[in-house]
Amino acid sequence: MDLFKPMNLEEKKSTTPEGDIERVKCLIIGSGPAGYTAAIYAARANLSPVLIEGLQPGGQLTTTTEIDNFPGYPDGVTGVEMMADLKKQAERFGTDCRWGIVTEVDFSSYPHKVVVDGNKTIEAESVILGTGATAKYLGLESETTYAGSGVSACATCDGFFYRGKDVAVVGGGDTAAEEATYLAGLCNKVYLIVRKPYLRASKAMQDRVNRTKNIEVLYEHNTKEITGDGVVQGATLIKRLGEEDEQEVKISVDGFFLAIGHTPNSDFFKQYVTTDENGYVVTEPDSTRTNVPGVFACGDLKDSVYRQAITSAGSGCMAAMDAEKFLAERE
Ligand code: NDP
Repeated sequence: MDLFKPMNLEEKKSTTPEGDIERVKCLIIGSGPAGYTAAIYAARANLSPVLIEGLQPGGQLTTTTEIDNFPGYPDGVTGVEMMADLKKQAERFGTDCRWGIVTEVDFSSYPHKVVVDGNKTIEAESVILGTGATAKYLGLESETTYAGSGVSACATCDGFFYRGKDVAVVGGGDTAAEEATYLAGLCNKVYLIVRKPYLRASKAMQDRVNRTKNIEVLYEHNTKEITGDGVVQGATLIKRLGEEDEQEVKISVDGFFLAIGHTPNSDFFKQYVTTDENGYVVTEPDSTRTNVPGVFACGDLKDSVYRQAITSAGSGCMAAMDAEKFLAERE
C-alpha cells in the first residue's frame, strides 16, 4: 500500500489575512530528544529555530527514572537531567524554546501556519514535528500510585532494575512479546498477562515467547489491581472475567510493565499529514519528509518499532538536515 502521497502546496492559496504574524524559518513542535536534537542542528545551521515545548516539556523521558543506555553517560542520567541538558544545548546555539501548546495547524498553504495556545499564529517556512507518542495505560488508580516505583511502560529503559526478580508484562501484541522476551533475559520470571485466549503478536514473536522457559503466559487474565507497600510487590488478576468460572488470581512481582500500545500524538495535524492506520506519521524511506513539502517528522511520532531516546535523537538530527536542505533549495 502506498501511504506516501506528496501534497501539492503551490495550487492552494493562504486564507490567513496579512498582519503582525510572526514568521520563522524553522518551527519545531515537541520537546523530547527528537525535538531538542532537531533544534541543536537547526540552530547551528542558522535556521533560528523556535521550539514549542508542548503539554509535557521534556517529553516521555521525564517520566522515567535513570537512563543508562544513552551513549555518553557512563554513570547514567535521570530523564529530567538529560532533557534539561538537551534544552540548554539547544538554547546555547540560539534556539528560542517557548512554553506553549499547538492548538491548530494549517498546512494547506505555504508558508505553514501554526497556532499556539489558541491565539498566536506563527508562519513557518519549515515545520519539524516531534510530538512523540504516549504509552497507553490500563486506567487503574494503582498505576499512578506506583508510577516510578515499579510500574513502567518501557522494558528497555527500566528492565535493568529488575535483574533476578519476577516481573509482569501486560499485553498480547508485538511490543508485549518483545518486552517479555527482553525481560526474560534479565529477570528470574516473567508473567505475560494477556486478556484474550491468544496472542496478537506475529507468529515469529509468539514462537520466541513460547520457547522462552521463564515466561509464563497467563491467557484470559485481566489486571484488577497492582499491589504493594510503597513499591510494587504484586498484582491481583481476574481470570476469565465475566465468565461463570471467573476467578481471582494473585501474583508476586517487583515490576509491572505496560505494553498495550502507544498513541502517537498526531491528531492535531492528521488532516494534512499522512499517517498509517495506527496514527504514526508516514515519511519517505530513509528521510523525515512527510507528504507535505516543508513538514518533517521525527522521533516516536513516526517510529512504532525502536522508540528509544537515541533513535529519536538521531531522527531529530535528520529532520533538521532535511529542513535545511528544503529551505536552501527554495532560495
Ligand atoms: P498492539 O495494538 O498491536 O497490541 C496491543 C495489545 O495490548 C493487544 O494484545 C491488546 O489486546 C492489548 N491491550 C490493549 N488494551 C488492553 C487492556 N486495556 N487490557 C489488557 N490488554 C490490552 O500494540 P503494540 O504496541 O504491541 O504494537 C503496535 C504496532 O507496532 C503493531 O503494528 C506492531 O506489529 C508494531 N510493532 C512491531 C515490532 C517489530 O516489528 N519488532 C515491535 C513492536 C511493535 P487484544 O489483542 O485483546 O486487543
